[in-house]
Amino acid sequence: MSPAIHNYRSSSSVLNRISTRIILCTVLVICCATGCIANSDFGYDSDDTGPDHWAEHYQECAGKFQSPIDIEEDWVKRVSMPPLQFTGFSDLPLETKVTNNGHTVLLELDRSSEFQVSGGPLRGDYSFAQLHFHWGVNDSYGSEDTINNHSYSMELHMVFYKAKYGDVDNAIKYKDGLLVLAIFYEAGHLDNLVYSEIVDTLKKIEYPKMSVMLHKGFTLKDFLPSDVEHYFTYNGSLTTPPCLEVVTWIDFKHPTRLSHKQLGEFRKLRSNAGYLTHNARPVQPLSGRQVYYNIGGYKDSATNLHSTNTQLAALLVAFSIAIHNLFSV
Ligand SMILES: [Zn+2]
Repeated sequence: MSPAIHNYRSSSSVLNRISTRIILCTVLVICCATGCIANSDFGYDSDDTGPDHWAEHYQECAGKFQSPIDIEEDWVKRVSMPPLQFTGFSDLPLETKVTNNGHTVLLELDRSSEFQVSGGPLRGDYSFAQLHFHWGVNDSYGSEDTINNHSYSMELHMVFYKAKYGDVDNAIKYKDGLLVLAIFYEAGHLDNLVYSEIVDTLKKIEYPKMSVMLHKGFTLKDFLPSDVEHYFTYNGSLTTPPCLEVVTWIDFKHPTRLSHKQLGEFRKLRSNAGYLTHNARPVQPLSGRQVYYNIGGYKDSATNLHSTNTQLAALLVAFSIAIHNLFSV
């Protein structure tokens, strides 16, 4: 995002001007983070637009360190990292726009201040860009990353760009350019009221390029699981073309629950090729990557031997991720 957006003010003229700039930036965000490339559309079926054919138009989709992956809990390295820090997550956005972009449901927030994440495995601050969802043809699968080969019913991606790179368009030039917070969903019988407005809105954006503004909106904290201490983290890619390998993934371990009915409403949306019944890319080879699991319990005391060890472990994790970023291709 441009510096002008950081200096957002509430006068109507500035609001209109900045809103226009936000919309322009958002177009970039959509294109970069969910891959709506005009020249060659992509899909999720086994036809010539499906995942097996993405690399014909987007070479990096055949890369070595792609996402999603299957995370085997027996193989993860258990570490204790500093806590994740969430800034602005309790602030209600000025406006929230919900769009069917033909590939997913995309939520964009107009805001008076930054929403940022830092800490954990991250080096520096990451600023919010957008969030969107992935789901399957029924409740038995839908998440992109899987845990012990288990696919959850749906997965939310909160996309952030490294603040020092200025915007998404520039951040994707760097191996540590983007952060995605991933939240898994499992199906239940009771409606999750936090999602009521979004689910009700889906009926109004049935076809691609349709958008509506939410009346009540939500805070980003509303989407986070209650436990943000336990998560998996690894280096990977965008899960849609152009599949750039610039993403630090943080997958929260504990899922959120939505009702079967709420999940079903997402499958009623349409893409350019019919109903958008599923939009999850199959898992990709791990190719020797290390997945870390944060066990929590980080102690921030230099005099505590255990804390010193965990700090050292966290530093080693950050160092190994940095080395990976330097030498991965
Ligand atoms: Zn995604």
